[in-house]
Amino acid sequence: MLKEYMFYDQNPLEFPLDESIEVVNTTQNLTSKYLVSNVKTDNSYLYAPEINYYVKNSEDVISDKIHNVKKLYDARGVSLDFVDDIELSQSVGNKLVVICLDEHSDFIEEAKKRDFVTLVFNPNHILEVSGCIGNLHVSFLKDQEELEVVCDQIVWFEMPKIYTQKVGMYDLNVLGLEKIIETLCSNVGEYRYKHFITYDSQTCQYHERKRADICTECVGVCPSGAIIKIDSKKHLQFSHIDCIGCGACVSVCPSSSLDLAQMPFDAFSKMSSFYKNSIVLLIPSKVDFESLDLKLPKGVLPLVIESKDALNEAHFMTLLQTSTYPVLFFTKALRGAVLEVVSLVNEIFQRKYNKQAIFTCKDEIELQEACKNIQAIDACSYGINQEGMSKREIFSARLAHLVGSENLGTITTGKIAHYGNLKIDDEKCTLCFSCIGACNVKALTAHPEDNSLRFNPSLCTSCGYCVLSCPEKGCISVVENELSLEPKYFIQNIMAQDELFACQECGKEFATVKSVQKIAAMMAPHFRNDPRKMATLYCCAECKPKVMFGDALEKGFAK
Ligand code: SF4
Ligand code: SF4
Repeated sequence: MLKEYMFYDQNPLEFPLDESIEVVNTTQNLTSKYLVSNVKTDNSYLYAPEINYYVKNSEDVISDKIHNVKKLYDARGVSLDFVDDIELSQSVGNKLVVICLDEHSDFIEEAKKRDFVTLVFNPNHILEVSGCIGNLHVSFLKDQEELEVVCDQIVWFEMPKIYTQKVGMYDLNVLGLEKIIETLCSNVGEYRYKHFITYDSQTCQYHERKRADICTECVGVCPSGAIIKIDSKKHLQFSHIDCIGCGACVSVCPSSSLDLAQMPFDAFSKMSSFYKNSIVLLIPSKVDFESLDLKLPKGVLPLVIESKDALNEAHFMTLLQTSTYPVLFFTKALRGAVLEVVSLVNEIFQRKYNKQAIFTCKDEIELQEACKNIQAIDACSYGINQEGMSKREIFSARLAHLVGSENLGTITTGKIAHYGNLKIDDEKCTLCFSCIGACNVKALTAHPEDNSLRFNPSLCTSCGYCVLSCPEKGCISVVENELSLEPKYFIQNIMAQDELFACQECGKEFATVKSVQKIAAMMAPHFRNDPRKMATLYCCAECKPKVMFGDALEKGFAK
């Protein structure tokens, strides 16, 4: 039977819980399946790490605690529809490649005793290792010939750094004999793993963009080599087994092509609606909650996030405009993309409300200090239905509301945020719309109703692919690393516009004036200003043959 919520009561509770929460004193032999529980158990679909931490550490009064515990269950519960939590497996056999210069016979003997079939290689002959645990491909040189063996796991003495995070590849010098044998043995059989990352190739700025390597940011930041780019096809390849779920790739992806499988943005959006009028304390899930000694001041509600490195400006803006309080962020240190994001959002709130938006705190003293300075920012309240919207679209809509009709100036952003602007030379643009085909984040759009090319700067990732696709030299240029806090940054601005040209024979409009003039100027020298040939340039496709071969057609030569 499916029940809503379960609370495993390890220590006697000091207050009652809402009746939708069943309190149990064992997790063994439960007959019900629950939606959310406060502990990891096979009997519940979702684990809410916030609950035990809140119950143990909150300084709220009892009536608020009862209400807030229910809220925390509800918040986790709504994420179920969006979470990709399917467990996958890879079979792992006993073929072991050992890469070493010296004998290391003690290790090899030990491995053989555990039924591993070993094959030993000299590291100087190894070219490359690819694949994943259970299916690792080792390319090597033998008598100047390139060969390959497939194995299940690899032990490499003094392993190159690029492989150190790969599952199924271990360095004896790092782990030691006992630990390495134990790890190798525990992997044999079915190796279970989950997807941490989801990927949408439609918006990826590397995928099948043949003109140039526009973006490979995720490949560069992945610490475990789990993302590989296949240049011949311009495809990304993900090894979900090797992904450690750090979220670094999600935060640097300019076009929202990557998301966390365990807490996708849609789930985060839904969850944040339960934090309305509360002060949110963001805590990364990697924190050890059992030993976390951090009292929660009154009114503060914890929200555990999968990865702090995956937080972007849309996450913070959603929380700020929903809770209407500054956000507390528990973190020892900020770096990379999330550091840029925090600075950007703080700068925006400083300019608009003269208030700090995000307080980072690494211990209880900093948390208490931050709470003393926190006041509601009622004016920032804003709600939208952001289901299915990309990070850029969400941030754009929310920031547009914050800016309103004011001009708050321009912010110089870091290189990871990828905000910018475009300049398009209206004189040069022939409205061929090649740039629209090149832009996969819908920053550039065609408007047939007034023959215009429009551009929404807030959606642009300043990737520059439109520049490469434009046939008119010098027509488009990209302004990088700036975000303008003025209304026109968030709307579709007309960048180029033209009249339609009517066919001089039948009067049907078939192209823009500038494109007809451009082709005519190009073709005139080739046609040596022959009046009949020149006239074809001002006709639609149907009328061209009539103009060119008019007499002949009338005399029946066309057949
Ligand atoms: S960071 Fe995003 S846009 Fe860039 S290559 Fe990776 S998935 Fe594609
Ligand atoms: S408008 Fe141009 S630079 Fe901006 S995202 Fe689209 S293709 Fe890239």
